[in-house]
Amino acid sequence: MKAKVSLSTPGYCPDNFGLIDSLRYLKGVGPKIEGLLRRLKVYSLKGLFYYFPVRYQDRREIIPISKLKEGHPSLIRAKIAAVNLRATRRTFFKRKNLFEAILSDGSGSIESVWFNQPYLREYIKAGDTLLIFGKPVRYKGKIQFNAPEYEIINGEEMVNSLNFGRITGFYRLTEGLTQKRIRKIIFETLERYASKMEDVLPFYIRQEKGFPNITRSLKNIHFPSTFEDADLARKRLIFEELFFSQIMVYLRKAKRVLTTGIEFKIETSFIQEIKEKFNFAFTRSQEESASRILRNMTKPHPMHCLLQGDVGSGKTAVAILAIGACAKSNFQVSFMVPTEILAYQHYQTLVNILKDFEFKIDILVSNISKGNRLRIIEGLKKGKIDIIVGTHSLLEEDVEFKHLGLVVIDEQHKFGVAQRALLPQKGINPDCLVMSATPIPRSLALSIYGDLDLSVIRELPPQRKEPKTILAGEKKRAWVYEFVRNKLREGRQAYIVYPVIEESKNQDLHSLEEMYFKLKEVFKEFSVEMFHGRLKKEEKQKVVDDFRRNKINLLVSTTVIEVGVDIENVTTMVVENPERFGLAQLHQLRGRIRRSKFEPNFILIAPEDLSDNAGERLRAIAKINDGFKISEEDLKLRGPGDFFGHFQWGFPEMKIANPLSDLDILTQARRAAYEVIKVDPNLEKPQNKSIRRYLWPLLRNK
Ligand code: ADP
Ligand code: MG
Repeated sequence: MKAKVSLSTPGYCPDNFGLIDSLRYLKGVGPKIEGLLRRLKVYSLKGLFYYFPVRYQDRREIIPISKLKEGHPSLIRAKIAAVNLRATRRTFFKRKNLFEAILSDGSGSIESVWFNQPYLREYIKAGDTLLIFGKPVRYKGKIQFNAPEYEIINGEEMVNSLNFGRITGFYRLTEGLTQKRIRKIIFETLERYASKMEDVLPFYIRQEKGFPNITRSLKNIHFPSTFEDADLARKRLIFEELFFSQIMVYLRKAKRVLTTGIEFKIETSFIQEIKEKFNFAFTRSQEESASRILRNMTKPHPMHCLLQGDVGSGKTAVAILAIGACAKSNFQVSFMVPTEILAYQHYQTLVNILKDFEFKIDILVSNISKGNRLRIIEGLKKGKIDIIVGTHSLLEEDVEFKHLGLVVIDEQHKFGVAQRALLPQKGINPDCLVMSATPIPRSLALSIYGDLDLSVIRELPPQRKEPKTILAGEKKRAWVYEFVRNKLREGRQAYIVYPVIEESKNQDLHSLEEMYFKLKEVFKEFSVEMFHGRLKKEEKQKVVDDFRRNKINLLVSTTVIEVGVDIENVTTMVVENPERFGLAQLHQLRGRIRRSKFEPNFILIAPEDLSDNAGERLRAIAKINDGFKISEEDLKLRGPGDFFGHFQWGFPEMKIANPLSDLDILTQARRAAYEVIKVDPNLEKPQNKSIRRYLWPLLRNK
């Protein structure tokens, strides 16, 4: 074994418990397998332990050959009576040779074949005893095995296999790695190192819940003796993840309550005045969210509010009330959005609505002159600017405020955890309002945003038409163009969106340009323009303005139009290669055309050969219009790990828990976490030592 390394050793990885430097030093791993494991995102001993089987197969019972049934996967133990390797006719499958073996066990015999594995001749010999697992298939009237799994057990009395004679786990693999191999690696690593895992779940909680300790749980989830063992181990591991996320939630809540923030004085009459500037009446949902947010602003602790609402539900209007209230109290507002276009749009809206109130409103983006920038920086520092709208530029170090009172972050999922955390730090415990158009299911919201005050706009403004989503294949392209043409003739406008993944890649933009020239031809009688992130600022602004003024009929664009841009006359969107987008993103895109009294049409041109998952995604988007349901579907299709990546708010990673389907365990974990924090808010009691130690790296940054 390698010498023990100390915490200060370069490259020290706590997830290796200081026992090894790298997985390649494990028995049966080496640099090549280490590379494959990396592809599975397994980097450490702990990573290996937490690489759980995705399903099991019951391979406990050995049955006599005479009891084998066609189509039933079964395990037999048999002696090889004869083997034969022969050439076969070359077919379009390119099968060239066939290895055959006759297996018998006293109850009967069965043939097994392997195509194109001539080397088996070297391994499997007449007289050998084998364990064979496979699904018998019928061939020329008789059942046989076709390429079954096997293991040679000559001379071994007992079945002591990781693959057979037990409940066998199956892992997600990558090319070059086999189930057998990963089982062996995990088994041997567990045998040797599992006892070194510290059990982070306190003993008294484990005892109360009847959970096995961590070492036993890990062994049982990988190599269970019974399904009950596997279940209990899984339950414990899920509980553990949810428990820690809930501890974090309660700790943050507790901390916030102890922090003094700004106690805004808000007059109802003033809010009413702002509301009257809108040319629409607030929906009931908007009213409720607004009063909840405003009420939170009057409290003595910093507000931390997440405003969720489907695309087009009118979150901006709600935010404007909060912004106005803050500015009226002589505090500054910093309003951050992910794109410049959106910044200009919100800036316009703010100026329009608040023009009679003598607030100084400005905009800060990266694309402005030095002089202008200096003026704004100065204005913010001196407190001359009341409301600033901007992009990431607002995060820069020299952007300082005199007295920042409210931070608003739109489309919050477009920002990283660190970025979101940075903005409030520019003030002294300002109130925070973050907005998201990617609504997340409530159970999920509770478990990851539980420390936030949640506010949801449930209804869309009246007169909004449900979008019609049409799933068209490549073959219907001509039809789609005719459809668009008709809409343009009626005076409506349209988008055609291309999946340019990296706008920095010339290649990708090039294909957008090509399409643009083609479409200019197809839609000769209309004004067609192109839009993407790499246009110059003035060009961008001009295109958006012209589109807004209906001088452009058809806009060929990348997904930069995904967020925010708000033009009522655009009622049709065609998306090319929709299979390259995630569900949430498609829903966002669709939101762009969901803003008017005309019926919106969302048309997807998909290639003919779709993967199952992509097909499911597209069918889901065609069927579902409700953003919350879309989110749930997304979670189902993508799995929690991936989904969470999106919403991380500085929590321990979840590998096994899925707050949607593990709702019961989530409830238990919440209760347990609550009890812990109630009794021991600073995690100082000896029995909670392990919690503190485990969460310390996360807590330290708070
Ligand atoms: P999102 O929640 O997606 O950010 P926005 O705030 O951009 O939505 O609002 C979408 C559009 O709906 C805007 O044009 C806005 O003026 C309009 N809108 C918002 N609230 C209402 C309402 N209560 N009635 C009618 N239109 C509204
Ligand atoms: Mg918005």
